[in-house]
Amino acid sequence: MGSTSQCDLNAMTHLIARFHASKSGSSPFFAMLMAESRVLMTAQNKTSLGDPTAHAEMEVLRQAFKANPTIDTRRCTLYTTCEPCPMCLSACFYGGLRRVVYGVSIDFVRTLASGDAPLSACQLNSIAGFEIRLVQVMREEFESEFHAYFLRHGRV
Ligand SMILES: [Zn+2]
Repeated sequence: MGSTSQCDLNAMTHLIARFHASKSGSSPFFAMLMAESRVLMTAQNKTSLGDPTAHAEMEVLRQAFKANPTIDTRRCTLYTTCEPCPMCLSACFYGGLRRVVYGVSIDFVRTLASGDAPLSACQLNSIAGFEIRLVQVMREEFESEFHAYFLRHGRV
């Protein structure tokens, strides 16, 4: 499902660093939009502020289009610590994105906490015919980070 570049590894390493630098208890869900090797926008999940649709991927797309409504998203990659949910993958499709790189799978997060949709991005991509390239990168590192996070916050 698509190849991995050094830029992908750098971007995902950056997301792990953001995760480490964030305050204790703050969400582990981060997303970053890049055009080739240039960072356009980063965002964190903000659902704790009251909007249940404020997932990191939605936030990053909303901010990117607000900053530049004519952005050429076909040349961009969305990086996210977790495989996008159906809402976010649909937003990627309507936003014109062709490539998404993620760390942990939704299936993995569902083993740690309830509440995620029972449909993975890979399944939705295939059912809906979105044709977005979905690439999982640094799976072991992200699984270990998420496991530690949910252990600390009592949700495993
Ligand atoms: Zn989502």
